[in-house]
Amino acid sequence: MLSTMQDVPLLISRILEHGSSIHGASQVITWTGDGEPARRSYAEIGVRAAQLAHALREDLGIEGDDRVATLMWNNAEHVEAYFAIPSMGAVLHTLNLRLPAEQLVWIANHAADRVVIVNGLLLPLLAPLLPHLATVEHVVVAGPGDRSLLDGARARVHEYEELVAGKPTAYEWPELDERSAAAMCYTSGTTGDPKGVVYSHRSIYLHSMQVNMAQSMGLTDQDTTLVVVPQFHVNAWGLPHATFMTGVNMLMPDRFLQPAPLAQMIEQERPTHAAAVPTIWQGLLAELNAHSRDVSSLTQVTIGGSACPPSLMEAFDKLGMRVCHAWGMTETSPLGTIARPPAHAVGTEEEFAYRCTQGRFPAGVEARLTGPGGERLPWDGESAGELEVRGSWIAGAYYGGQGAELLRPADKFSEDGWLKTGDVGIISPDGYLTLTDRAKDVIKSGGEWISSVELENALMAHPDVAEAAVVAVPDDKWGERPLATVVLKEGSTTDFAGLRTFLAEEGRIAKWQLPERWTVIESVPKTSVGKFDKKVLRRQYAEGELDVTQL
Ligand code: AMP
Repeated sequence: MLSTMQDVPLLISRILEHGSSIHGASQVITWTGDGEPARRSYAEIGVRAAQLAHALREDLGIEGDDRVATLMWNNAEHVEAYFAIPSMGAVLHTLNLRLPAEQLVWIANHAADRVVIVNGLLLPLLAPLLPHLATVEHVVVAGPGDRSLLDGARARVHEYEELVAGKPTAYEWPELDERSAAAMCYTSGTTGDPKGVVYSHRSIYLHSMQVNMAQSMGLTDQDTTLVVVPQFHVNAWGLPHATFMTGVNMLMPDRFLQPAPLAQMIEQERPTHAAAVPTIWQGLLAELNAHSRDVSSLTQVTIGGSACPPSLMEAFDKLGMRVCHAWGMTETSPLGTIARPPAHAVGTEEEFAYRCTQGRFPAGVEARLTGPGGERLPWDGESAGELEVRGSWIAGAYYGGQGAELLRPADKFSEDGWLKTGDVGIISPDGYLTLTDRAKDVIKSGGEWISSVELENALMAHPDVAEAAVVAVPDDKWGERPLATVVLKEGSTTDFAGLRTFLAEEGRIAKWQLPERWTVIESVPKTSVGKFDKKVLRRQYAEGELDVTQL
């Protein structure tokens, strides 16, 4: 029997129409650095998103599922792009401005981006890449910045404000298939090329509803959320979409992500909620300890992206900010778990331990643990295995490039279609996940990934380096940083500073990814099948057996 219910597609345009009408008075507040933030209502965002869609279609010729990329900080224009592009049927591709040049070029070419909308102050990053972006026909510049950097560019250059000015204030959003592509985001893992995750209208819609549930972030139109997590990092954890459903105001830090301006914007704009990776909070804590600020409005803080140290949680509890720990991935939209303690633990000694776990799976995310031999492990709080998940906002494949098949590598997807997360952990009988290890060796620095393999490959490209292995080592400020262990060829005259300069040259490695810690070893320890055995290196480092130089 078929149901008798209407089948209205779950579309981003519906979220936009809802937010800009029912919650038209809610605001996107963009920090400008001079104490006078730019305020734009949801109603205005709705109008400008319609105007941007007209400009993209009529002036720039965007049609079908063309990809429109953004290279932007968190700000109102980026929110407009978030809604205009998918609502008109095109695909929003958020470029991660922290990636090394070479990877950005690879990703934009792989996605076949036709347009890049860029913040003017990021033109020094974009301009040298442009000649290598084979498919980019138009660059749209928003906000301050030196336009002359684009002189001589092959792509046509447009001003964002000039494009949207005078365009019709409404757009007849097409009735799309809810399963069609809305947005894409690339993830860079340990091995191989970056992988594109393509979110559907349906997945974003359902994920947004989950983000809004009381047991998730549970915000209302009485809240203002400080969205520190970048819009280029898994759709800012779904916040821009979720807020348009409920009318939560968004405070956008733009490029002002340092602890002092963050503290200032909290004091001035009085957000009630904020979302960011642990490193940001560690920085803010140090800032608040050094300079007292009234941050009393901020009572809820969502932390994810890497494990939240219990000490950080305690410190924030003391400030009256309640931390809620969450786990997710680019492939999971990202909400995978969230650590709201169960009712029976609230107010008891058990509560804190629950809050330190990665959290519970929400309805809509199924989970299982798989042992080394492929066996299912029980949720007994003891058996550690690789976490596998499935659900309506979990990736089932990667984007294979223009016209290509979808990719389902065996190390990322099980034969029956579950996502293999690469995270190893235990699950308690009541469904709380605790991550104990990482199956992969990427270095998580300040919530962003550094590929150890990429560093190794770049190092080994140096004529004096015979072998190199890079491992993650703990770092007070960034969570983890790379330790470079190198085997030098006989007669080599290179020193560590020379190697570091080599890595930085020709955009091989982004500056923030360059290792500070260096050591020379005789040979890289290997496993039985000849792979680098990084466990040994980590142990040697932990036990102080390596002679490490800090640059
Ligand atoms: P990304 O796709 O860049 O968001 O990175 C996803 C990965 O970050 C996960 O597979 C985990 O390894 C890690 N991660 C995210 N959240 C947490 C958390 N709360 N605790 C520990 N690791 C986390």
